[in-house]
Amino acid sequence: MLIEHIDRQLLELDAAALRRRLRVAESPCAPVQSFESEQGSEPLLAFCSNDYLGLAHHPALIDAMAEGAQHWGTGSGASHLVSGHMRPHVQVEELVARWFEPHIPHARAVLMCSGYMANLALTTALGDGDATLFCDKLNHASLIDGARLAQAQVQRYAHGRLDVLERQLQSCTTPVKLIVTDAVFSMDGDVADLPTLLALAEQYDAWIVLDDAHGLGVLGDQGHGTLEHFRLRSKRFIVMGTLGKAAGVSGAFVAAHPTIIEWLVQRARPYIYTTAMPPALAHTVLASLQLIESEEGRTRRAQLQGLVEQLRMGLKALAGIQSSWLLSESFTAIQPLIVGDNDIALKLSAALRHRGLYVPAMRPPTVPVGTARLRITLSAAHTSVQVQSLLDALAQAMGELQ
Ligand code: PMP
Repeated sequence: MLIEHIDRQLLELDAAALRRRLRVAESPCAPVQSFESEQGSEPLLAFCSNDYLGLAHHPALIDAMAEGAQHWGTGSGASHLVSGHMRPHVQVEELVARWFEPHIPHARAVLMCSGYMANLALTTALGDGDATLFCDKLNHASLIDGARLAQAQVQRYAHGRLDVLERQLQSCTTPVKLIVTDAVFSMDGDVADLPTLLALAEQYDAWIVLDDAHGLGVLGDQGHGTLEHFRLRSKRFIVMGTLGKAAGVSGAFVAAHPTIIEWLVQRARPYIYTTAMPPALAHTVLASLQLIESEEGRTRRAQLQGLVEQLRMGLKALAGIQSSWLLSESFTAIQPLIVGDNDIALKLSAALRHRGLYVPAMRPPTVPVGTARLRITLSAAHTSVQVQSLLDALAQAMGELQ
């Protein structure tokens, strides 16, 4: 019965062009990456990773991981509150706290195993029965799931509609108010209006849970993320940053007022009831964060920004040809080409694949119905010749669809 029940639903996914396929990568994350194919393995020019600075395969980080494993072994062996909390974890937490001190007075940080778990930790530990969570409708799935799990009341506002948010804040009666938002929205690449959000938070005595998964490493002169980009400082910011995207490793952190961090350590179940990140990974993260704020990190951000501008200019010209297609107001590494129809998104992605390029088609439920898209992501490891190849291939693929 169960299998038939699932099979029926899988067929429905097929019929709606919504069935996803796992692709096996046969080589490390890089602009040209090999994927399993019928012929064995096929190298593709890929515009799909979140490795925005090209650090996932950086020799210094590979050395750091080997060194970390030599010294600390492969596993932490226990959760943080038992015996898994090791010196490399503390070193990362101290460095992250230093990063955020200019933006959050007295900042303290806590390391978590993934951004997904960090978001569940934040929303469930802070979102108790005394709280209301105010969530942008385009927030990442992990924030949506976290809001579902929380005991708090939940109010959602249409993407970026801070006028709606303000009305919700005005009529809120719970003592604790938490505005929960992506800093850089993961499917559109646009950036939340943090100065206005902070003004609202101050006016209505609310706090801001900020998911900076896609801003960390990319935005700000030192790569400290969206708060550095806007040069904002307030005790009201509670920042979640991921370490598997621009930082090129894995894991996440929360940086906030020390009392909030202490509460997460005491109460956040996704922190307490899981094995601590392997210390060798924490050791690698430390090397990565140091690299991000170094001169090399700055050079990589400048390279990425140049590629973003090149791609946007090219995409504007292409979207002009196909008037129903949209670009997002994004200056970040995430540059979607919104085509609307699931089938067209899939066909475009397939036509690019045919030409040796990999750009994934994003469809519901990952994006709202009617906004299927190619989600192009850039990395500092790409070259401008590769970006031009993408634009040329897109022009040809579009021609085929007409
Ligand atoms: N938040 C956002 C905005 C994300 O895009 C992601 C990853 N897709 C996450 C959180 C989850 O982070 P992680 O991959 O570290 O679990």
